[in-house]
Amino acid sequence: MNFITDLDVKGKLVFLRVDFNVPLDDKGEIRDDTRIRASLPTIAWLLDRGARLVIASHLGRPKGKVDPAMSLKPAARRLAQLVPNKVLMAPDVIGDEVARLKRDLREGEALLLENVRFYKEEEKNDAEFARKLAEGVDIFVNDAFGSSHRAHASVVGITDFVPVKAAGYLMKKEVDYLKKAIHTPVKPYVAILGGAKVSDKIEIIESLIGKADHILIGGAMTYTFLKAQGLGVGKSLVEDDQIEVALVILDKARTNAVSFHLPQDHVLASAPEAGASVKVVETLPFPEDMLGVDIGPKTVSGYAAVIATAKTIFWNGPMGIFEIDAFAQGTIGIAKAVAASNAISIVGGGDSIAAVKKAGVKDKISHISTGGGASLEYIAYETLPGITALEK
Ligand code: AMP
Repeated sequence: MNFITDLDVKGKLVFLRVDFNVPLDDKGEIRDDTRIRASLPTIAWLLDRGARLVIASHLGRPKGKVDPAMSLKPAARRLAQLVPNKVLMAPDVIGDEVARLKRDLREGEALLLENVRFYKEEEKNDAEFARKLAEGVDIFVNDAFGSSHRAHASVVGITDFVPVKAAGYLMKKEVDYLKKAIHTPVKPYVAILGGAKVSDKIEIIESLIGKADHILIGGAMTYTFLKAQGLGVGKSLVEDDQIEVALVILDKARTNAVSFHLPQDHVLASAPEAGASVKVVETLPFPEDMLGVDIGPKTVSGYAAVIATAKTIFWNGPMGIFEIDAFAQGTIGIAKAVAASNAISIVGGGDSIAAVKKAGVKDKISHISTGGGASLEYIAYETLPGITALEK
């Protein structure tokens, strides 16, 4: 994979795909500009060396229609505050006006295109749309690690129409860390998986069975695994259509050299709401009228003991409904255990990152991945569509 520093970009029209999918408040103001700042090293490098820079991103899910609430205009204003260069905002993604703006761009100037998902062709990876995106472009740079598990036109399709392709700094940093974790993990390798759904994480669990020494399960996934073993889990969130899959995973885990851990105790609540009545149980079945909302304290200390032995840690997904303080102790406990370890620790996914921040230990994590889904897929498949396209 080419890296931008291998290229001469002076005077070249560079199309940079970034992930400016920032959260906006009800007034349309940016609540958190982390994602914009994450691409600044690449943007600054390109502009400093005289690129004529076209920047593209998606924001939210406008589903192929123009939605002013998902315009990238606020991102253009923020970028203009963060770099000394001229930043223009395009009125569209493709078309005559955008073509003129691209043509008129000078060295060291940036043009942010509108939300690429205003066109349904983006998510369909439509070749004609990709060709229009690539019009006049000399170099394609992908710095959108968090979008690179999607075969979309501005990530994958465009690479068929641009002669030179390269990765930006953020992309390189993500791939370097994840590569280390996958291809040559320092052992013991402990994977911690939580969140809502087994269905989202089956492939990663299966791939980890062959690689990790320990897999620690938390979150609502737990209850699908418990139900698969014939245990009553009350009102807990269960994916009934994943029971078979859960059994296959349990079976594979038994026949492989991996320790597959399920929680030993559970925080139950009468409802998934603040103020609900709560109790901790170790035995199953759960009462019919209660649901599991977090891992219990015994599980936290058991998992922490495993985490303390790790040399490599990969964590994705909260251990419970951590958005509600009463159900956040398990997730916070795990965040602290990960922070306390000397291992290379990689945390991915918006919720796990929020948990690490909530626990006040963000600075003690080796690598916080900007892409939750992308980091999971990278670990499962050892590449992503957007990376394969860069390497073509
Ligand atoms: P994911 O996007 O799959 O990582 O799931 C994150 C979501 O899982 C968070 O919003 C959590 O509130 C939710 N979650 C975690 N544990 C549970 C649970 N025991 N019951 C219901 N939802 C949960």
